[in-house]
Amino acid sequence: MCIFCKIVNKEIPAKIILEDEKTLAFLDIKPVNPGHILVIAKKHYPSIEEIREEDLSAVVLTLKKMGKRIKEKLGYSGYNVNLNNDKVAGQEIPHLHFHLIPRTSDDGLKLWPQNEYKDNEAEEILSKLTS
Ligand code: AMP
Ligand code: ZN
Repeated sequence: MCIFCKIVNKEIPAKIILEDEKTLAFLDIKPVNPGHILVIAKKHYPSIEEIREEDLSAVVLTLKKMGKRIKEKLGYSGYNVNLNNDKVAGQEIPHLHFHLIPRTSDDGLKLWPQNEYKDNEAEEILSKLTS
């Protein structure tokens, strides 16, 4: 059983902020900034491609509630919502989870670098994605 399933089953402790029928929100044990929250479906889905729509809707509603709390209760003025989907994207725990990362203007975090498309590359990508 994965570590987040163990948290759902209360086999290992976590700092749980909200629990409802389908979802759980708890503090990340190693926060990027204090108040870093993870939101999961209670059912084990490895990635966003597998999750049932009703569970995904519930997860997004819990995300929305947690975002409000990060602002209203912790006083942050913004946050990033991040999903590391699959190992290559940095997913270490194979139970779908969204990160809510509270931000401050001086926390020094950088978002990813961006590149330019080469000639015709965007057209080729678009054609693959829409075929
Ligand atoms: P990811 O790399 O997207 O799979 O992120 C996994 C996250 O889970 C990391 O940010 C860890 O700090 C966090 N984490 C690992 N174990 C626990 C735990 N027992 N309780 C809370 N957060 C955890
Ligand atoms: Zn799991």
